[in-house]
Amino acid sequence: MLIREFISETNKNKIISDLLKHYKVGSVKIKQKSMKDHAHYNVDTGTLELSTRYKTIKNRQLKEFLITILHEIYHAMDAKKYGWKKFKDMYEYEMNYRIANDQDEYKDNKYEIEAEKFGQKNWSKWKNRFKKENLI
Ligand SMILES: [Zn+2]
Repeated sequence: MLIREFISETNKNKIISDLLKHYKVGSVKIKQKSMKDHAHYNVDTGTLELSTRYKTIKNRQLKEFLITILHEIYHAMDAKKYGWKKFKDMYEYEMNYRIANDQDEYKDNKYEIEAEKFGQKNWSKWKNRFKKENLI
């Protein structure tokens, strides 16, 4: 069996575009930028940012990559559901609520918890699917 060390740029892009299509967040604003994280949903601007820093993904980074993309897609799905400006207000309210209760604005934030749950729950299913499609 062939064990690949890297997932190519083409396959990485195909994985991202399949996920965006599947979760119907294609209408959400997307921006490519050089950054450390694989993806980031910018609540202030309603933009799903994708990193251009990594052309390829190392196999051992695959889990983290998939969880991050799915986590950020979940924020984008919320933004689509409520409208990004309303979601921005909801998210800010939640942050302030946590701070007012002596909690952590991110770690205890319900939107962050839900997004992380979604990533943790779904990454392996996608890994199997992309494996079957020979993308990884
Ligand atoms: Zn998040």
